[in-house]
Amino acid sequence: MSQDKKYDYDLFVIGAGSGGVRASRMSAGYGARVAIAEDYRVGGTCVIRGCVPKKLLSYAAHFHEDFEDARGFGWTVAPPQFSWPTLIANKDREIARLEAIYIKLLQGSGVELMQGRAQVLDAHTVSVGEKQFSAAHILLATGGWPVKPAIPGAELAITSNEAFELPELPQRVLVVGGGYIAVEFAGIFNGLGSQVTLSYRGEEILRGFDADVQRHLHEEMEKKGVRILLHHEVSAITRAGGALDVACADGTRLTVDAVMFATGRKPNTAGLGLEGAGVRLDAGGGVLVDAHSHTSVASIHAVGDVTNRIALTPVAIREGAALAATLFNNTPTAVDHNDIPTAVFSQPPVGTVGDGESAALKKYGELDVYKTSFRALKHTLSGRDERTLMKLIVDAASQRVVGAHMVGADAPEIIQGIGIAVRAGLTKSQFDATVGIHPTAAEEFVTLKDKLRVRAHL
Ligand code: FAD
Repeated sequence: MSQDKKYDYDLFVIGAGSGGVRASRMSAGYGARVAIAEDYRVGGTCVIRGCVPKKLLSYAAHFHEDFEDARGFGWTVAPPQFSWPTLIANKDREIARLEAIYIKLLQGSGVELMQGRAQVLDAHTVSVGEKQFSAAHILLATGGWPVKPAIPGAELAITSNEAFELPELPQRVLVVGGGYIAVEFAGIFNGLGSQVTLSYRGEEILRGFDADVQRHLHEEMEKKGVRILLHHEVSAITRAGGALDVACADGTRLTVDAVMFATGRKPNTAGLGLEGAGVRLDAGGGVLVDAHSHTSVASIHAVGDVTNRIALTPVAIREGAALAATLFNNTPTAVDHNDIPTAVFSQPPVGTVGDGESAALKKYGELDVYKTSFRALKHTLSGRDERTLMKLIVDAASQRVVGAHMVGADAPEIIQGIGIAVRAGLTKSQFDATVGIHPTAAEEFVTLKDKLRVRAHL
């Protein structure tokens, strides 16, 4: 590692979220002199108002069904009571604990933490408030921010940021959007007892996912009481006493207590000084980077959501680690963005890795598709009408499993394991050679027999 003493630091990181923290700690571990600036809370979106609090709320929402399901197993449960303020206070305590751990880890690695909004002044200079610092390398790890559609009354709506801090649980909620954050929050509010409507202007929720997954989750969410409106657009929001009156493009109106926009996120690049420094951005404001996370300016790099690649925490962490190895450990490392397993913590949850059927068909031309939908053993006694979907997509020519998809209890946990097999390029017969664990839902992935041969229409 070469240390250039003409700069204050070897690396100055802007943003102490998933990518920034990992890059700083690893770079410091390789001997670099590192500073990191954060203008909100250490931990970033994932820890403070993303993955972690979202999953805690999702657990809370699921208890609703757990109490109901317990009856079939002989339990008598007194009518359960739910307290939103207790949940939020407990969640806040856990987030504060995690934030403290992150701060300790940074300090323990010798990274200098600065509180404040940072700006890039030129290829080697950063400002934080009134102060200026020079650095051999600058890392942009500023993440993203929710965007609201520009409609009258948008300021009356919340985004996921505020959803984590609501003083009370809204009785009637309109969630606008069809992506993973929209369906997750629809499930959270619904499970906690709100009356939920989801409005999405597209064809089907979870755009880009396998079509069977999309439909299956849609049906299961409706069974649980979420009202889903497709090809639907909200055009204005006005206050109506203590509630909100929502005008829709089709002429109908909805009265709700909260509107939550989950209509996308934008890379946090505005006001960062990037144009002045010569850093090129894409049309959506994301920082353009090469496979090694280098920007158009040799000394400036970017990782995580700000680069508009795959906006997931483990990806940001990998990119941060790879950059540290590239810059300070003499090991140029690129992150492979293929076959990244991912989950949606909806109710029921989704787990997926590899291609969906239509994407795979375009790539491979001919597929063997294996699919099953069944009622999980647990629900034979609980009586719940919930079905699990599992699907394997196999390239007909090579017999390689190129996609695995599941909607149902524990899907994220199961697909994490299946993801190893898909990445390793295993064939269907290698899946079949694995003995199942009985009785589980996951064993279906090694016993799927009925195949459908699907050909692309060329
Ligand atoms: P971030 O974690 O967003 O960190 C960026 C940091 O930079 C922030 O702390 C910000 O305050 C700071 N910052 C910005 N500008 C400046 C500046 N000028 N000066 C100083 N500091 C600045 N991912 C998953 O993998 N699984 C999930 O289940 C999941 N759930 C999510 C749920 C929600 C509701 C949301 C919103 C996101 C979720 N994500 C999930 C995505 C995940 O949170 C992000 O992919 C991840 O946090 C990206 O990390 P990052 O380092 O790029 O940015």
